[in-house]
Amino acid sequence: MKINAERLWDREQEVGEYGRDPRGGISRFAWTPEYREAAILLIKWMEEAGLKVRVDTVGNIYGRYEGTKDLPPVLTGSHFDTVPMGGKYDGLAGVMTALEALETMREAGYKPKRPIEMIAFINEEASQFLGGHFGSKAICGMLPHDFASVSVDRNTGKTMKEAMLEYDMGLEPDNFEGSFIKKEDYFAFIELHIEQGKYLLKKGLPVAVVNDIAGIHQFYITYYGESAHAGGMAMEDRHDAFAAAAMTACEVERLALESGSPTRGTVGYLKVEPNEHNIVANKVTFSVDFREVEDDIWKQLYDNLIEFVEKQCEERGLTYKVKSTISTAPCHCHPRLKEIIAESADKHGIPHMNMVSYPAHDAMQMGRLYPMAMIFLRSSNGGVSHCPEELTTKEDLAAGAQVLCETLQRLCELEEI
Ligand SMILES: [Zn+2]
Repeated sequence: MKINAERLWDREQEVGEYGRDPRGGISRFAWTPEYREAAILLIKWMEEAGLKVRVDTVGNIYGRYEGTKDLPPVLTGSHFDTVPMGGKYDGLAGVMTALEALETMREAGYKPKRPIEMIAFINEEASQFLGGHFGSKAICGMLPHDFASVSVDRNTGKTMKEAMLEYDMGLEPDNFEGSFIKKEDYFAFIELHIEQGKYLLKKGLPVAVVNDIAGIHQFYITYYGESAHAGGMAMEDRHDAFAAAAMTACEVERLALESGSPTRGTVGYLKVEPNEHNIVANKVTFSVDFREVEDDIWKQLYDNLIEFVEKQCEERGLTYKVKSTISTAPCHCHPRLKEIIAESADKHGIPHMNMVSYPAHDAMQMGRLYPMAMIFLRSSNGGVSHCPEELTTKEDLAAGAQVLCETLQRLCELEEI
């Protein structure tokens, strides 16, 4: 079976235009009119490809390709929303290659043993309603029941519930339960996604098999000290919240560099109060973002940093608070699924490598329920992503769709993994 590279590329470009932002790039946020238009086009294509389409209670779109036996389906897909002023490939590549793979199967008259379903997750980027990975978290039962009522658009103040109702696609914001999937509902989950870095570009390879998805711990630390005159107050009498924050930022970098693993540690946000050149700061809030693949190290990073923070407070006479925003443990791709992806690429003469995903993906949530694996595609324009310059070439998209199509075929003939 050979996928249709032209059709895939043309559709990626066409649906990828929805949400065109006058400031540049694409801003297609969940439950907006432009998202709705794009979803309607996607559903039309899915139905034309012979898929049985349904939209769940929160807005994820499913399409089912029937199998000959009544077995749990293989599920594949990615997200359909973008970051503000993003590109046409992040998320969308995984949705459109899934559709292309299923349409190719139908055209070839292929009847899989297991059904295959595709999914377009909603609100993964969470550009308006913060949190991230909404669609996959919702179906895996990881969100509180009243989430849609309490979650607010950070720009307009509108609740998620209002946005879901205005979306007018029959969603039920008070019925997240209606979207839940259970362990026995699916056989395996595969997500194809662009790399969003330059490993593949530097290696000159189109495709990677993902080994693990790094865990993320994102939190905000606030130090409370005492304002004082920058001249009058002697150094030993100060309670300087900013000096502690600066030391802690350096410690984040040191912990990442010396973890014994390719940990990422970032302090990217800082708020200093009162933020004056001649006043010792009395309150400083900053973000910490740790990403790590090894479960033990991932836990240790946080514990070690908090120990450091407590020492700073002791030495400087400060107090502190921590507010955790994301805490998602590392996720490990299924060994047999990784082999099947590699074998599928080999069969079509598509060169590949293995790598870690440091960005988080919907696959992390799905991986807690099902055997999971990911296929990465080369980000061609210098590896950049989450910007209008994001690019994955027609050839690489086609290579990815071919690997996905082969992988799905192999998976849906398996009795067990
Ligand atoms: Zn993405």
